[in-house]
Amino acid sequence: MSDRCAVVGNPVGHSRSPAIHAQFARQTGEDIVYERIAAPLDGFVAAVESFRASGGRGLNVTVPFKVEAFAYCRHRSKRAAAAGAVNTLAFREDGVHGDNTDGVGLVRDVEQRLGFRLAGARVLMLGAGGAARGVLAPLLDAGVARLVVANRTAARALELAALAGDARASGCGFEVLASSASAQAGEGFDLVVNATSAGLDDAAPEVDDAVYAGAPLAYDMVYGARPTAFMRQAAARGCARVSDGLGMLVEQAAESFFVWRGVRPQTGPVYRLLREEIGAQA
Ligand code: NAP
Repeated sequence: MSDRCAVVGNPVGHSRSPAIHAQFARQTGEDIVYERIAAPLDGFVAAVESFRASGGRGLNVTVPFKVEAFAYCRHRSKRAAAAGAVNTLAFREDGVHGDNTDGVGLVRDVEQRLGFRLAGARVLMLGAGGAARGVLAPLLDAGVARLVVANRTAARALELAALAGDARASGCGFEVLASSASAQAGEGFDLVVNATSAGLDDAAPEVDDAVYAGAPLAYDMVYGARPTAFMRQAAARGCARVSDGLGMLVEQAAESFFVWRGVRPQTGPVYRLLREEIGAQA
């Protein structure tokens, strides 16, 4: 019988994960079926337990349940612990394992598909929600020289700062700003990452125009058929190259597939297929 995996979230109808994992299963010959589970906002644990009791083997967790998923796990990977959030659950004999593959997804897409070297780079990350928390440790592991995180509201920025002990110990110039508008270009940035959800409303986060000037790359975690508001803003204000987050989506899915199956699918063909389906960016 096929192993069952699924993505759980609210909403979840838009999720591309079933299509991506179907491609990975076809490509690798792994026998899994992958479903969608829409859990009520107050019903995450019940939905997970019901899936598990019916023989489910693994889950991806999306908005807004990543922090609840973290609390639910018995075992947590180092990168999940660093994020305080989980996007991948694996049900094993010794209990529920939680991992966070968002960060490695971003790092692989930026380094491998876009050919951008993170080691030594000066990075500005806008946003301090679950996605920003997930990519913090992997960016530091990749050897960035400077990491400034700026968020619209102070409380969430402070939560991220509290999680970021390792960042301070890493020797990287690390700063958390409790307002995105206060991010200053200073000596400049090599990479500006938009980890806010502003793009879901076709908006860009408010930030000083100067942060984009001369930056070789601006990366939006949100993706779509057309360049996002952040991509348009970054390009108009002097950023040399812009990308949306479709590649990150495929890479984080591949890492989840590896967690469940121990097999690493090829991401390039799946990225290209998905890009064609969604619509090529101008
Ligand atoms: P989240 O936990 O809800 O956090 C949202 C963040 O966006 C917060 O920092 C929030 O700031 C900020 N924000 C929202 N609207 C804003 C606006 N108009 N201006 C400035 N800041 C704004 O969400 P998340 O899980 O971190 O996800 C963030 C985005 O990344 C989502 O759009 C998600 O779809 C995307 N994502 C993509 C991938 C991928 O694989 N490509 C993976 C994970 C996430 P406040 O604290 O001020 O509210």
